[in-house]
Amino acid sequence: MKNPMNLEGHNIIVTGAGQGIGEAVSRLVVDLGGRAILVDLQGDKVNALADDLGADNADVYVGSVAEPGFVQDMVNKAVAKNGAVHGLVNNAGIVRAAMAHKMPIDTWQQVIDVNLSGVFYCLQAVGRHMLDRNKEGDNSPASIVNISSDAGRRGTIGQINYGAAKSGVMGLTMSAAREWSGKGIRINTICFGVVETEMTETIRSDKFRDGVMAQVPMGRFSDPEEVSQPVCFLLSQAASYITGQHLSVNGGYTIGV
Ligand code: NAD
Repeated sequence: MKNPMNLEGHNIIVTGAGQGIGEAVSRLVVDLGGRAILVDLQGDKVNALADDLGADNADVYVGSVAEPGFVQDMVNKAVAKNGAVHGLVNNAGIVRAAMAHKMPIDTWQQVIDVNLSGVFYCLQAVGRHMLDRNKEGDNSPASIVNISSDAGRRGTIGQINYGAAKSGVMGLTMSAAREWSGKGIRINTICFGVVETEMTETIRSDKFRDGVMAQVPMGRFSDPEEVSQPVCFLLSQAASYITGQHLSVNGGYTIGV
């Protein structure tokens, strides 16, 4: 039987590919037969990952998703080199914590720039390319996965910038899906709970761990490898009738909310 999650022939941009969830998604894309187009600020990390994946399986672009010029140039180059881009995982993200009443404006803006505007810049640049392909009668796969968070569904304490950006990502998914799903492009959100990466070191520390864990019905956190699988599911033809949805991957964290 053909594996419906096979990604052979798919060229997939993964932002924030240097570590954590983005690295795991990139590795799984390649394991499933696809080519990973790695985007990150951390050149040393994405270059090392590309070396590990092999030149036939990966490209590297070093820069910030918060720079629209870099994003458009990166997409143009990825299309010129590979002929087409079939998938985008909008994964790059940052955290800059402060209580709402104390949050400096630049701390607010930094997170909005990367976690919301950065997602839009990548979605727009890749979406334009996918629309052009559709117009030319090319019906090859086109799937965008936007990474959000439970913080976007239920708010968060001490990260109003992050919560607002992640709610905004869900809005981007719904609007883009309404505009583009009739043109062969699927757009979905994944909302993670707590995944063991550098980003969650503080909430997994002794001070917060038990309180957070008590809200997870499955009684454990996840790791990047486990959560990379539903991302690749949404990229693949196994999800061919799914668009405009928000899938929580969180051990049941949002049940009852
Ligand atoms: P991480 O901090 O381990 O990795 C983030 C990566 O994004 C890094 O490699 C970093 O260099 C890159 N990056 C940051 N700013 C960038 C920019 N402007 N341009 C390009 N690359 C940039 O984080 P992670 O835990 O792997 O998180 C990945 C995504 O998942 C983020 O969007 C995060 O908000 C989301 N998320 C994570 C969790 C979790 O529990 N870890 C939960 C919910 C949502």
